[in-house]
This record gives sequence, C-alpha cells and structure tokens, in this order.
Amino acid sequence: MVKIKTPEEIEIMRESALIVSKTLGLIAKEIKPGVTTLQLDKIAEEFIRDNGGIPGFLGLYDFPNTLCMSPNQQVVHGIPNNKPLKNGEIISVDCGVLKNGYYGDHAYTFEVGEVEPETKKLLDITKQSLYVGIREFKAGNRVGDVGFAIQQFCEAEGYGVVRELVGHGLGEKMHEGPEMPNYGKRGRGKKFVEGMVVAIEPMINLGTRKIVQHSDGWTITTLDNKPSAHFEHDIAIVNGKPQLLSTFDYIYDALGIKSTEEDEFRAASN
Ligand code: MG
Ligand code: MG
Repeated sequence: MVKIKTPEEIEIMRESALIVSKTLGLIAKEIKPGVTTLQLDKIAEEFIRDNGGIPGFLGLYDFPNTLCMSPNQQVVHGIPNNKPLKNGEIISVDCGVLKNGYYGDHAYTFEVGEVEPETKKLLDITKQSLYVGIREFKAGNRVGDVGFAIQQFCEAEGYGVVRELVGHGLGEKMHEGPEMPNYGKRGRGKKFVEGMVVAIEPMINLGTRKIVQHSDGWTITTLDNKPSAHFEHDIAIVNGKPQLLSTFDYIYDALGIKSTEEDEFRAASN
C-alpha cells in the first residue's frame, strides 16, 4: 500500500535517513583491506543505537545483522562474516534505521584499496543511474518513468539490470508501496504525487542480469560471478519535485571526494 506522508512525517524520516547517511560515512572511513564485515557491522550497530535509532534490518524478516554487506559478485542481502576484505574487492553496504517510528534505508558500494578500471566504471555508472532515476521521481510521472530511465542508462553501457529485486515505498514500514523496479516502460504504473517517499536503488551487474539465490536464504550472486553494484537513496516529493532525505556527503567527506551530484535534489531551505 502507498502511504502519503505529511510534511511533519517527512521531517521525521529525514532524521532516520540522516542517521543511515552518517553510519555509511563512518563505515567509509573503516573500509580497508584486512577489516572484516562483521567488525564493520558492530561499529554500525553501536553508532545507530548511540544516536537513538534501532538497526532497521536486524531481525527484519529474521535478517541476523545491522548491515547487509555484499562483496564483489554478491548483489544484495549479504550477511556480515569474519572474512577480511581484500585489496581490489568491492563491497556493497546497505543500512536501515528505525527512529521515531519511521525508517531510513540507503546503500553505497565501496572500493577496497585499488579496484580494476572496469569495476570502477560499473560503480560510477550505477551511482549516476540512481540520480537519473531520481530525476524522474516527480509529481505526475509514473513508476515506469523511473525504471525506464535507469534501465536505458545502464543497458547503454552493456550492463545487466537486475529484475528480481526492486526499490520501494518507505515509511512506518521498511517496505511499502509502490514497488520501484529499475526497469520499465514510460508512462506505466502508479502515478507519483506530493508526499510520496520512496527508496530508489539500482542493482546493476557488470555482466548478465541473471542472479542466483543461495541456500542460506539471503545471499544473492550474479549468475556469471561478475561484480554487481548497488546505490540507494531515500527521496520525498516536495513541491512536486524530488528531494533527497539521505545524502552521500558523509561518505564523500570520509573519502575526500568532491561532488555536486546531489545539489539539485537538496531542500530549497538548506
Ligand atoms: Mg537498502
Ligand atoms: Mg531499500
């Protein structure tokens, strides 16, 4: 079901989203060869609780941890473990927070040390595709407009757009309507209106779009074992236009990256 949010609810959700953003910024500083994903998970859980939040994924559908940590060919939903990260790997980190009854949920794929150029490009294009999609999330447009834009952008590079996993509405539940696929047809699906809040999250594969679900019930990998990237933001429609509730700025501060890609989606009052 789609639940439209009041301006007050959107402000509460902004706080939840920002705790996720800060958590990802903290994790960004710690990601290096030798660190385990379980160590990073503990850091995230402590930070979220210190900020008055509850880890949004812990226990959700029985997920065992705070962060979904999906290295290399893992698409999403990876479970943190004791294996040290290695130079040249990538790691998708997805984080959820529940605070004041509302969820934040966003994700970033990090490089560990020095990464192959073709993998770097996959990350760059996937992140760009997120903003290409967000630009279509405005009053009067439809679900298919976002999916179409992301799909066109990524397939133009020869990448595989995952079909089985999609973005979603966000609010008092982690997963509300509408579903937000990263593929689709222009003008199709639910119409966007003022006060909608969604998580847009392209999951893009270097090779085939086909995926494999593993027997642990969580881990999902690409069929050809080539890398997969995942970037996610929380966005509200305010004054008819997409407004970011989450931000990668804390990550960029940690990594020393300069970026203007979020500027057009910031609150006018910021
Ligand atoms: Mg997520
Ligand atoms: Mg999500």
